[in-house]
Amino acid sequence: MTDDSMSSTEPKPVDELEVAPETGWDALYLDGEWVPRGDRDAIPVENPATRSTVTTVPSGTEDDVDDAFATAAAAQEEWAQRPPQERAAIVSKAGELLGEYADDLATLFAVECGGVQLKADFEVQLAQRMSEVSAGLATRANGRHKESVTPGKENLVVREPAGVVGVITPWNFPLHLTNRVIAPAIALGNSVVVKPDEHTPMTGGLVLAKAFEEAGLPDGVLNVVPGYGDEIGDHFSGHPVPSVMSFTGSSEIGRRVGQRAVGSYAEPALELGGNNAHIVLEDADLERAVDAGAFGSFTHQGQECISINRHLVHESLYDEYVAKLADRAASLPIGNPLEEGTLVGPVINESQRDKIVGFIEESTERGATVEAGGNHDGLFVEPTVLSGVDSDMPVACNEHFGPVAPVIPFETDEEAVRIANDTEYGLSGSVHSTDLQRARDVADAMETGMVHINDQPLNEEPHVPFGGVGASGMGRYNDDWILETLTTTKWISIQREPREYPY
Ligand code: NAD
Repeated sequence: MTDDSMSSTEPKPVDELEVAPETGWDALYLDGEWVPRGDRDAIPVENPATRSTVTTVPSGTEDDVDDAFATAAAAQEEWAQRPPQERAAIVSKAGELLGEYADDLATLFAVECGGVQLKADFEVQLAQRMSEVSAGLATRANGRHKESVTPGKENLVVREPAGVVGVITPWNFPLHLTNRVIAPAIALGNSVVVKPDEHTPMTGGLVLAKAFEEAGLPDGVLNVVPGYGDEIGDHFSGHPVPSVMSFTGSSEIGRRVGQRAVGSYAEPALELGGNNAHIVLEDADLERAVDAGAFGSFTHQGQECISINRHLVHESLYDEYVAKLADRAASLPIGNPLEEGTLVGPVINESQRDKIVGFIEESTERGATVEAGGNHDGLFVEPTVLSGVDSDMPVACNEHFGPVAPVIPFETDEEAVRIANDTEYGLSGSVHSTDLQRARDVADAMETGMVHINDQPLNEEPHVPFGGVGASGMGRYNDDWILETLTTTKWISIQREPREYPY
């Protein structure tokens, strides 16, 4: 890491970006209005690369949360009555606008969450595809006609929007993870209140308000309340108005949000943490396994729920795999995300950095060896490869959420599966083998919601179900699976002939 790599590349002021609302970003979006911060406290948005404050946003209050849910509730019924093609058109248009704002979004990802250009491209494309798939849901919210065991009765199962949807999202893929809920929710006739993460209020919420506003969404259907999770989070998650409470974030907070949501009879939809294993069997194509391993570990500094958290490598390939992965880690350009060619930016904040560095240090004290990286400067943590790791070491048994690749050896396929499953999480994973049946057997035995053969865990396709088991969450996102969550069914029966009752 050189000083040059941390040069003070100054972004365009965020209020001057084309995507910025006329008020600038220091506002809430309520009932179709950009409401200035006024006398609310300010949340500073800090650029993790330069540590400078790029803007402030309002620290929303419990009263703001109440106003937003009341507004959403008032707007929902009329929105649901709009023809599905009209709802679909607005969702599609908002998705198109995200593409038009792609350059501005790349700047915002860089200054809010340290995202590099590659990650910005990936996230915007994913959000656009999610909007397309979600728009299609508007005309696919089908009911059913069911036979009846009662003579003369007709059974209808009618599908209706769930109502108001609460959305709490994290900072790592803020645009996509928020859009992944609001695009299908709005297409299906729901109204929404979003509380984005305090690090990413723009890309995690306000940008989407701007896109949907421009796309012609009626007032009140989408509302965004920036705010600190530990200040308004409990009030939000236990609110009596929403019917669905969607949360993406850590398992610890997710469990709390889920409990509070259920306490208010809202259905929780929880996408939580992961400890994903990348398994390299003895007959794997080593080059492919290393390529995948590097991408799955170091993309966005390893800060994805579906990043590789542990590499499990057969003992016969172990040394070569470690050496090649270490070469890859050492070759990745690290620096300010706004500098062309940067592939590894800063991690999000000091507490996250300290956690990652602590896991590395504690694991080396217990016998792990640093094969590449291991250093940090400010919030820049070098891509790090550790050998001699066993699955009890802190860097392996915790979700480290950093650019760290602990490599664990194993002897048999059964042992690899046992190590992979030795975690409370069950989100994603990958397995490499030149024998697809063998890889498939391992994939079947992995206790996760998703597994990718001869790839790495970092995959999402908007028409394919996404989600995990155990501490990784409840429910599935995307397409038909989120349609189930964001709608409710009602049984309407029609007794067409007089019915004979027993008395
Ligand atoms: P976090 O749980 O700390 O924060 C997520 C959100 O919860 C933020 O908006 C935060 O303000 C809010 N929050 C904090 N306290 C709250 C409370 N008491 N009540 C309600 N909301 C509260 O998570 P994070 O550290 O920002 O994100 C990283 C975690 O998210 C990792 O564990 C990662 O695996 C997980 N994640 C999961 C997915 C997925 O799809 N499964 C995707 C991305 C991230």
